Amino acid sequence: MNTIPHWIDGAEVTSETTAPVFNPATGAEQAQVVLGGSAEIDAAVRAASAAFETWQDSSLSQRVQVMFNFRQLLVEHEEELGRIISAEHGKTVDDARGEITRGREVVEYVCGLGDVLKGSFSDQVSRGIDVHNFRQPLGVVAGITPFNFPAMVPLWMHPVAIATGNTFILKPSERDPSAANFVAELYRKAGLPDGVFNVVHGGKDAVDAILAHPGIEAVSFVGSTPIARYVHEQATAHGKRVQALGGAKNHAVVLPDADLEFAANHITAGAYGSAGERCMAVSVAVAVGETADALVAILERKANEVKVGPGDQPDVEMGPLVTKAAQERVENAVGTAAAQGATVVVDGRGLKIDDPAYADGFFTGPSLLDHVTTDMDAYQEELFGPVLAVVRADSLDQAIELINANPYGNGTALFTASGEAARRFQRRIKVGMIGINVPVPVPMSYYSFGGWKDSLIGDSPIHGPEGVRFYTRPKVVTTRWPQPAQQVTAGFNFPTSS
Ligand code: NAD
Repeated sequence: MNTIPHWIDGAEVTSETTAPVFNPATGAEQAQVVLGGSAEIDAAVRAASAAFETWQDSSLSQRVQVMFNFRQLLVEHEEELGRIISAEHGKTVDDARGEITRGREVVEYVCGLGDVLKGSFSDQVSRGIDVHNFRQPLGVVAGITPFNFPAMVPLWMHPVAIATGNTFILKPSERDPSAANFVAELYRKAGLPDGVFNVVHGGKDAVDAILAHPGIEAVSFVGSTPIARYVHEQATAHGKRVQALGGAKNHAVVLPDADLEFAANHITAGAYGSAGERCMAVSVAVAVGETADALVAILERKANEVKVGPGDQPDVEMGPLVTKAAQERVENAVGTAAAQGATVVVDGRGLKIDDPAYADGFFTGPSLLDHVTTDMDAYQEELFGPVLAVVRADSLDQAIELINANPYGNGTALFTASGEAARRFQRRIKVGMIGINVPVPVPMSYYSFGGWKDSLIGDSPIHGPEGVRFYTRPKVVTTRWPQPAQQVTAGFNFPTSS
């Protein structure tokens, strides 16, 4: 069976401990991934520290040229990488290609880094004195990433870190590890020197080794909220800079003046795309006013039309869940919702694919729950599966109150024909990323990505200008070049005038 190794200093490295990697569509074990700990993290830090000595002095043009090459390779290998992701994650190949595209946009952003990284200059701030500033890389930085976007989420981090002159250690999810090694190979082909991008596979042991290692300056984390909180606490306690993005419960509000067919179409795609395993998935539809029943009727029709199957087959819209445990968790949650009084309008539990090859796959169908209330588990928990809960509200203001009371604040959407309602919503909602008639409002790479409240621990969103700021630290230089004959008196006091 294939063993997926670490990638340290431009070479494959193995460890004794391994974990199985499954094909979620068949349920079969298809590979073993090595699990690293403090020894492997230490080896990666040594390689990355040595590489930093030269990489930090490479020219901006040289770093950007590597990114141009890397971008082109991502284009050329999109289909191949998409298939690797689909085989380990379960999502459709088209959806995997979509995540590569969104990640590639971050590479495109840093191809224009010269403009973003420009400092400023102030002439003659005092007589004969000028001031300018510039930013420098931190050193060795690490990224810890979730299973649901094995290409895109790491791409939110490493292109920005590397283009700004840092060296990088990626600790991907152990459930779908192969994309990280494929990306390492593309970087090598793009001309990136050994040791600048490293991959150490593993679980908690590898994460703990990153959080405690004195040679790592900063940690980027994306994953569930409890682990984001843990990473933030531990890494800051060890004196590191941290960005930690957590889980979500995203609401889409539908006002009575919205085009219901349009809204239901987009909410269905936002809820069941990638089997709901997206941090920006729509998991709650808030139906406002008298059109709620009509909206639920359309959502029911559309949920029943979703084509579920193996992610590598054409026309399939939704693949399996990532693990057997995830499948069981989601199906139990639907049962609990029914027991707590929700109406199960569409029941995805027990779905079987009509082909014996997929009899043991981790499939569950789309589920639609109506009359969900905020005290139910299906509302309070991040289910991270293809379950859409409908809650009802009397007014936009009540919907805003409901969303603001939720502990998460990653994404939200409003479907309406009213500019006034949209403006009121976007100003008052306590959520970081907002869509107006857009169900999954993932910001473009030249903005930054990040939620509010329990969806982002600390204060640093990811990629875009915030990413550049995160991976660099500023210097301010005050300069005087006295003329040879000029007498400059040195004062013992702070100057009181210029
Ligand atoms: P997860 O928190 O279980 O794992 C994330 C990373 O942390 C993985 O690399 C994993 O190996 C590591 N990890 C897991 N348990 C750990 C522990 N006890 N100690 C130390 N490290 C540990 O998340 P997941 O299941 O891989 O991904 C799904 C979650 O990620 C969801 O909650 C989703 O909302 C969230 N997510 C958030 C965003 C965002 O931008 N806010 C984006 C994608 C995913």
